Amino acid sequence: MTNTELIEKLRTQILTKDEFILLLSTYTKEDMDYAAKIARKICDGIYGKDIYLRGLIEVSSYCKNDCFYCGIRRSNKNAQRYRLTDDEILECCHEGYGIGFRTFVLQGGEDGQFTKERVCSLVKEIKSRYPDCAVTLSLGEKPYDEYKAYKEAGTDRYLLRHETADEGHYSLLHPNFMSLTVRKQCLSDLISLGFQTGAGMMVGSPYQTAEHLALDMLYLYKLKPQMVGLGPFIPHRDTPFYAEPGGSFELCIFLLSLVRIMLPNVLLPATTALGTINPKGRELGVLAGANVIMPNLSPLSVRKKYMLYEGKICTGDESAQNVRSVQEKMKSIGYRISFSRGDFIK
Ligand code: SAH
Repeated sequence: MTNTELIEKLRTQILTKDEFILLLSTYTKEDMDYAAKIARKICDGIYGKDIYLRGLIEVSSYCKNDCFYCGIRRSNKNAQRYRLTDDEILECCHEGYGIGFRTFVLQGGEDGQFTKERVCSLVKEIKSRYPDCAVTLSLGEKPYDEYKAYKEAGTDRYLLRHETADEGHYSLLHPNFMSLTVRKQCLSDLISLGFQTGAGMMVGSPYQTAEHLALDMLYLYKLKPQMVGLGPFIPHRDTPFYAEPGGSFELCIFLLSLVRIMLPNVLLPATTALGTINPKGRELGVLAGANVIMPNLSPLSVRKKYMLYEGKICTGDESAQNVRSVQEKMKSIGYRISFSRGDFIK
């Protein structure tokens, strides 16, 4: 089959692993454009011209984990650590609400100070102050009962990228006390608890092959998450992967389109990492099938400290305070920022 035929096939059925590998290792600019056109049409049919906003609040840069790629891994002695207080987080929500955000994403390292009780009371407080808003958590791996408590406290969504669906590859990116089995268990727990759940992977992470990405696609197809986060790997100087090359912008764009075609209803952000490696990253991501943008709503004083990777953008258009500029850019490509909660449409 030609690549065009493979892209067509994906509209109605899943590709085999070998077909994904072929497509991902031989695609051309024409294939990218073809996939983007289909992806965009599919997304427009479900979500229209609306692009949803999420206000990202980076609650802590402390982390007990040690992912080799990540700038806030616990072994990075140069990382600047901070932890927001509940009042600071609520202040971010207040500011974000005023700007028009109706989803708050609380993301952070796996910080023991954010206990189950603390997170639950924080979520309850946000939901009682802003009943028309969705709360998304992205705080890493937790036991089932903790996720359950988050849900009961009113949490709507949870983001936990699987990072890579291949066991061998997973072990090259993480210390041996972490495992893909646990990661996958967490994702099934989140889905069974009724969260709008986000999985996803880095593109171009060290040792990644087309086969790994094919496995990622098959895993996503089986899991059927409501959200998929995918962005390029970007090296961070204070990690073991400091000298590794970053992920390909084109491959990310192509994968965004393929994910949209494979999972038509998915909420798909044009990620910060994509915007970091290309100034037009977000527009091109949207034109390839993305429908979510996540500006940074963290207090300015801590923004530079949540450095997952080198050069992470956090001011300019990336800043929640500059939504107007993002609105203009979306308008210029025929889309509009929606100030609704932007839930998954089934
Ligand atoms: N502790 C939370 C949040 C992790 S940070 C959790 O475990 O889910 C959010 C995402 O940033 C990660 O899932 C990872 O995919 C991405 N990330 C981390 N380091 C990165 C790097 N060097 N380049 C690109 N993306 C990175």
